[in-house]
Amino acid sequence: MFSKIVIANRGEIALRVLRACRELGIKVVAVHSEADRDLKHVRLADESVCIGPAASADSYLNIPAIISAAEVTDAEAIHPGYGFLSENADFSEKVKQSGFVFIGPNAETIRMMGDKISAKNAMIAAGIPCVPGNNDPLSDDDQLNLRMAKEIGYPVIIKAAGGGGGRGMRTVHTESALISAIEMTKAEAGSAFGNPTVYMEKFLEDPRHIEFQVLADSFGNAIHLGERDCSMQRRHQKVVEEAPAPGITEEQRKAIGERCANACVEIGYLGAGTFEFLYEKGEFYFIEMNTRVQVEHPVTEMVTGFDIVKEQLRIAAGLPLSITQDQVKITGHAIECRLNAEDPKTFMPCPGKIEQFHMPGGPGIRCETHIYNGYKVPPYYDSMIGKLIAHGETRAGAIARMKTALSEIIIDGIKTNIPLQQDIMNDNAFSVGQQNIHYLEKKLGIH
Ligand code: ADP
Repeated sequence: MFSKIVIANRGEIALRVLRACRELGIKVVAVHSEADRDLKHVRLADESVCIGPAASADSYLNIPAIISAAEVTDAEAIHPGYGFLSENADFSEKVKQSGFVFIGPNAETIRMMGDKISAKNAMIAAGIPCVPGNNDPLSDDDQLNLRMAKEIGYPVIIKAAGGGGGRGMRTVHTESALISAIEMTKAEAGSAFGNPTVYMEKFLEDPRHIEFQVLADSFGNAIHLGERDCSMQRRHQKVVEEAPAPGITEEQRKAIGERCANACVEIGYLGAGTFEFLYEKGEFYFIEMNTRVQVEHPVTEMVTGFDIVKEQLRIAAGLPLSITQDQVKITGHAIECRLNAEDPKTFMPCPGKIEQFHMPGGPGIRCETHIYNGYKVPPYYDSMIGKLIAHGETRAGAIARMKTALSEIIIDGIKTNIPLQQDIMNDNAFSVGQQNIHYLEKKLGIH
């Protein structure tokens, strides 16, 4: 096992990784921006290094600064968390070239999965069902593109090959809108992701978002930890997640989960990863793979009793998977509510000082957050300030616990989305597991 690692992230995930390191006896180096000196994990870390100014581009995305932090502190490995450099193949490569271990897959795998077109093609080759589409970069040939859309059938969705974070997508309902939609998405993708490549696939009208958690070691072993439903979304971003996904049978879990685990072996995957699918009318359609730990990993941890972050560290240290597929058991149900510093109605970010914070508790409640009394939420980063997770024997039991926890939690001084989460927990369709990816926006009157 490593004796010291650098955590190249901030906020709740940095704290989560620090806790896993503590359990494994690993020393922690926190790297932080000038705006983040007061982060909880920076205070708790064994060492800390300021890597640059507040702007992410100068700090959390500053590859040379992070690698020098590992050098000066004599660390052995770097955990990238999620977001920032976690899916940056060049970072993984440079970390390795500098003599450190990147806690995640190798650069080639990240590169292949980071391009959604090559990811889809790799999955088709590995026998994973994908959303019908062209699976090649779209050319500038308007006639060809029009023919292709007709063949796929409207509505279609134009997606950036290098897209992420719910951006770089445009739905097209009619032939007359196709060509300009392709042009606009290309232009946006070029400026947002530095890659103007776009592709076309069928726009599924009422799917659910269901994803499978996998873990693969360096000995050719891979397992899946079942699935999560992340259909409660706003602007293609998850708001509530749960495990298991309502209505998914043991047979479906086994069939798709095993295919995902096998695909990991086939592509030489290493570490924790997620296969994301759209699920409609009983069929799964792969959309992308995330090659890192996800925000919503705790719901899987709660129903499997298995620590995904500790396993990431073990795998990166060259140890074999600590459990086999037969040992994975799903017990009860878990729900996660993301807590954002934002106006619950307008969704405008709401940074500022936390005057009072009271953490909820009780059986089955887990609160993952870096905030504390007096902490100032900076305006420079994502507005997520934590996650509340409730585990119960049944889905209804988990919802009941979540409602209690949401009524107990106090975050004063800034606006948060807690009222929205309370609304969702009281929603009739949600209470019977009837959500799909468009449900929340419809409920909010966005469509
Ligand atoms: P990102 O990498 O930006 O998260 P994804 O490819 O994972 O992008 O898609 C994010 C979300 O966008 C999905 O959960 C779904 O809500 C929507 N989406 C993506 N592809 C389709 C599609 N073919 N049909 C309908 N919705 C889609």
